[in-house]
Amino acid sequence: MLVLVLNAGSSSLKYQLINATTKDVVATGLVERIGIDGILKHEVSKNKKLDFEIDMPTHKEAIELVLKTLTDSETKVINSIDEIDAIGHRVVHGGEYFNSSTIVDEKVIKKIEKLIPLAPLHNPANILGIKICQELMPKTPNVAVFDTAFHQTMPEENFLYAVPHEDYTEHHLRKYGFHGTSHFYVSQEAIKLLGKKKSSKIVVCHLGNGSSICAVKDGKSISTSMGLTPLEGLVMGTRSGDIDAGVIPYLMEKKDMDGHQIIDYLNKKSGLLGLSGISSDLREIIKASQDGDKRATVAIELICNRIKKYLCAYAGLLGGVDAVCFTAGIGENSDLIREKVCNGLDFMGIEIDKNKNKIRSAENREINKSTSKTKIYVIPTNEEFVIAQDTYKLVKGK
Ligand code: AMP
Repeated sequence: MLVLVLNAGSSSLKYQLINATTKDVVATGLVERIGIDGILKHEVSKNKKLDFEIDMPTHKEAIELVLKTLTDSETKVINSIDEIDAIGHRVVHGGEYFNSSTIVDEKVIKKIEKLIPLAPLHNPANILGIKICQELMPKTPNVAVFDTAFHQTMPEENFLYAVPHEDYTEHHLRKYGFHGTSHFYVSQEAIKLLGKKKSSKIVVCHLGNGSSICAVKDGKSISTSMGLTPLEGLVMGTRSGDIDAGVIPYLMEKKDMDGHQIIDYLNKKSGLLGLSGISSDLREIIKASQDGDKRATVAIELICNRIKKYLCAYAGLLGGVDAVCFTAGIGENSDLIREKVCNGLDFMGIEIDKNKNKIRSAENREINKSTSKTKIYVIPTNEEFVIAQDTYKLVKGK
């Protein structure tokens, strides 16, 4: 079964065509700058790549171009779009409506629309992606896979904010958590590596441009660092993560900004970028730190300390940890961050092997010392694979 996986952002569109039966990635690509000008990067294999600029005023032209590229160019991989059996869409916010993936119908779209106030940047683009596919491929089923769904197993004591209860019952104010598809995939891989079927205690550190950490007990999310929105928790590329709420009115006054401007400031100008004044890209910060930049060095220490703080808190919540997993751009590639996070945690059975940690690979790997009570794994995430699998299962079972 061929599944087209789509991740529609406000001005971008990531796609993968996956054979869900053999698990092969048939083609992959990215459309950027939708509504600005338009760039498409399409890849069938390392030697078969296509890169071009073309006007893309809306997501409709972008999806049409993706379908055309899959069928009608030098890099075509299918003869007709009828060969696509189903489309799996990444949807950022499923609220409390969705604790698993679902086949899209009108009722599902209405619910995703109702959640727009909770994800104003993401859900509108996700809905647009679904509606355009319905228009362009009316016979092909669409499946929505939610970033929040995996965290719907969190107990109330871990998802409520300590504000009057009616804010939850009337306004749906609570922690939802994000990166659920990644936390699910990585924790499942870790359970396989541990050889554990029933009981397992795992902490997944998804460290990328956006970062979050999740405590997974017996395969279920029990707590995660992101909250009502993806701003809470770890320090990220441009997001502050946790701050005292009192910072908001203080900054509003000092910088003469309104609430929306402050949220924008905390989402887009803070984190690594704000701390270092250099970049949101960790590679550039590491380089600056090696060149003697003091602010860059502090930024690195600060992000590691925040991760460490959550890691230890989650070890406490879980009552121990069988495995700590690192994933996403930073988690998979930065031995420096992994080492700094794990350093000094020998007292709780987390002992990193510095040599194993330095080995680079695209495979799942163990980087703890043989004496370590806790396993430390690097597990490359694969959200597209989960979306393709969920889509396959739902459409096959229909
Ligand atoms: P993601 O959002 O998962 O694509 O991750 C992006 C982040 O990963 C950026 O901050 C990159 O600087 C970081 N990253 C990628 N490769 C490396 C590397 N080799 N060392 C350090 N950071 C890296």
